[in-house]
Amino acid sequence: MPNETPRRTFAIISHPDAGKTTLTEKVLLLGGGIRSAGTVKGKKSGKYATSDWMEIEKQRGISVTSSVMQLLYKDIQINILDTPGHQDFSEDTYRTLTAVDTAVMVIDSVKGIEAQTLKLFKVCRMRGIPILTFINKLDREGKEPLDLLSEIEETLEMDTFPMNWPIGTGKRLKGIYSIPDDTVEFYNESHEREILPYKEVTKLEDYEQEALEEEIMLLEEAGNDFTMEKVLNGTLTPVFFGSALSNFGVQSFLDQFVKLAAEPQARKASGELVPPTSPDFSGFIFKIQANMNPNHRDRIAFLRVCSGSFERGMEVTLSRSGKKMKLNQSHSFFASDRETVEKAYPGDIVGLYDSGNFQVGDTIVGGNTRIQYEEMPQFPPEKFAKVTAKNALKHKQYHKGIEQLVQEGTIQLYKTPYFEDYIIGAVGELQFQVFEYRMKNEYKVDIEFNHMTHELARWVTKGKVTEDMTDSRKMLVNDQQGRSVLLFQNEFALRWFQDKHPDMELSTGWEIL
Ligand code: GDP
Repeated sequence: MPNETPRRTFAIISHPDAGKTTLTEKVLLLGGGIRSAGTVKGKKSGKYATSDWMEIEKQRGISVTSSVMQLLYKDIQINILDTPGHQDFSEDTYRTLTAVDTAVMVIDSVKGIEAQTLKLFKVCRMRGIPILTFINKLDREGKEPLDLLSEIEETLEMDTFPMNWPIGTGKRLKGIYSIPDDTVEFYNESHEREILPYKEVTKLEDYEQEALEEEIMLLEEAGNDFTMEKVLNGTLTPVFFGSALSNFGVQSFLDQFVKLAAEPQARKASGELVPPTSPDFSGFIFKIQANMNPNHRDRIAFLRVCSGSFERGMEVTLSRSGKKMKLNQSHSFFASDRETVEKAYPGDIVGLYDSGNFQVGDTIVGGNTRIQYEEMPQFPPEKFAKVTAKNALKHKQYHKGIEQLVQEGTIQLYKTPYFEDYIIGAVGELQFQVFEYRMKNEYKVDIEFNHMTHELARWVTKGKVTEDMTDSRKMLVNDQQGRSVLLFQNEFALRWFQDKHPDMELSTGWEIL
């Protein structure tokens, strides 16, 4: 039975401190109260007191999981997938973006586009998903609005279309003019929402009104044409200005979000597009969270429902192995709370209890379907370490642990030619910590880390690397599939290599998959 409530599933991409948590909290408060804002990350509300979390999380007071939040707004169920930043940044952050249909890019108006936003943006671009932009902290003395639009256009090579326009910024912030609604939302200290049709506005000074009208005219003349097609294929980003902290422009943003965000999309499986309306249930695992409850040693596989409907207890097949299983334990997640999910529909995320059956990228199907969703991209690691077991006698558990954790997608594994030394790669430091913790707790092996100074991995797609081409600054390793990968210490070493060997072709991971 189809569920009539439409779904919109998105994640926020931003650099730490741009205001992702604040915006998420305000958005959740506007929803039908499915979950209140305190559960977002607990950074400020201190909601970590649950015993359910991995030790690492408790020790550091951070959430390792990309948790999932839901709200009901204007009869639309909005699923928000959290993408951890700071030191929590890991491949899971990237993988989460494969499970959403839309991304919201939050930019700090003072800082503009920052490094982590750019990295996450590239993953969205690779997938061609729509990106809505929220330029935050309008109450601060930030960059000029027009300069911010140019920065997005130039850095991200994407057209912009402002949905609203600031009337003053920082200390002179008066309000924002909504272009589609022809209304002005006033900024006030009490954070009360005050909104008026433009023609009824009397509060603006002449110079403010003149400047606004001039800028709007300029945008109309020199700006880009808006088409929904360009939004949906990710070549044009609708831009909103606001201040999450002051709850200013947030509701207007959400009102437009439900109109602009993509509905659950058809996804490619076994070479064909599977629409969400396809009657048979299908979905894929985009992340596995291990050991959320140390007493039960359980793992949770996060499933994105792509077609049909999910029902608790249903019999499904794991496409990779053909293994049949019953999905009895299914949860939705709100930070550390779990709730049993009875039914879920395309666009929804379900947490499945996993006793070791699932791998990241696995497809699960119901009925007689036999499909496999496209492989999860491999994200280029930026941190590397040589690893060995502290106690050589534990080599059996050591190899078993590494093999399983690599399969799960916890870290990437490389081996040096000849000696087959193990080198692990990750996009964030946290992955190393999780790896070390799990090796110790689940496989009883203490790991010795030898952090390397290399930061870039490039797959060799043409040419052969000979011994004389490598040294300590550029090192040759093999990935899990036996492909040659060069690790470089920095951009300089990479460029130097390319200049010296123009016939060799190198590629970042995700382009070759
Ligand atoms: P995150 O790291 O992206 O999740 O960012 P947070 O939501 O935690 O915000 C980082 C800091 O910026 C916090 O101190 C917020 O209070 C502050 N902040 C968030 N939004 C605004 C805003 O609109 N204006 C101002 N002045 N500060 C903000």
